[in-house]
Amino acid sequence: MRPVHLLNADLHSHSTVSDGTLQPEDLAARAHANGVQLWALTDHDAVAGQARAREAALDLGLAYLTGTEVSVTFAGETVHVIGLGFDPDNDDLVRGLAATRGGRLQRAREMADSLARAGIPGALDGALAYVDDPEAVSRTHFARFLVERGVCADAHEVFRRFLTDGKPGHVPHRWAKLGDAVRWITQAGGVAVVAHPARCHFSPTLEYALFSEFHTHGGRGVEVMVSAHNEAERTHFAGIAQEFGLLASRGSDFHDPVESRIDLGALPDLPGSVTPVWQALAARIHGLSAVA
Ligand code: AMP
Ligand code: MN
Ligand code: MN
Ligand code: MN
Repeated sequence: MRPVHLLNADLHSHSTVSDGTLQPEDLAARAHANGVQLWALTDHDAVAGQARAREAALDLGLAYLTGTEVSVTFAGETVHVIGLGFDPDNDDLVRGLAATRGGRLQRAREMADSLARAGIPGALDGALAYVDDPEAVSRTHFARFLVERGVCADAHEVFRRFLTDGKPGHVPHRWAKLGDAVRWITQAGGVAVVAHPARCHFSPTLEYALFSEFHTHGGRGVEVMVSAHNEAERTHFAGIAQEFGLLASRGSDFHDPVESRIDLGALPDLPGSVTPVWQALAARIHGLSAVA
């Protein structure tokens, strides 16, 4: 057994409950086959896949933490907050996530209108064909439709040319408040973690404001080792973890075998300078005996 610091933990992934393409059971099997020892399914603004993910993991002898990824608006920008180890049946959490998901379908209609004005009709039905629950519709589903239509070669090209600020298909949206998201997670017994902070492209001042407020609200972690971060960003956010006294997390943000650049469990280990978030979550891990 590797030391707990070097546990192959993958605490960020998506299933068909949000914008991933694999069922929770298939993700569990893939994580296990890839050598993951502690896994969390973190669907966007949703916990509907938690029971299936946990049971599939435990059947495989794979330790499991409940998870979600909450969409937040902070200083006019979208920030994602991962929740880990909470009670997925907690009323406030379930209500908060439902309210956060609630705006997605109307936003999708407006995105489709914007794409139609840019000469791409049929995007609402096209995107909805890729999602199980219409309430979970996301930009990823529009990206798959634009690739299917041959408008773009892959999802990365879609996000360069469409769906982002100032481009066709982009619709500004107000997500949950930072303090609410952190409160839903922590009051349900979990730990809140800032997801892939380098994606936010904040100025140093705003970055400081984000982590200060996050910490004040009771947020306790930051993703350091995540597919969206390059090596310099991993080093930078390991430093942020130390500066703000935050725990560090590790996750692939896996969505799909073809679209995702990093597979489940296929990330470098956390640097030795940080404390892994799972050290503070031992009591919340299902099937802990598999790793302890
Ligand atoms: P939404 O929550 O509907 O705004 O969609 C956000 C999702 O789009 C993220 O969770 C990613 O899965 C995906 N996404 C965002 N930016 C990119 C990108 N540059 N390349 C590929 N996927 C992206
Ligand atoms: Mn996603
Ligand atoms: Mn995210
Ligand atoms: Mn994610």
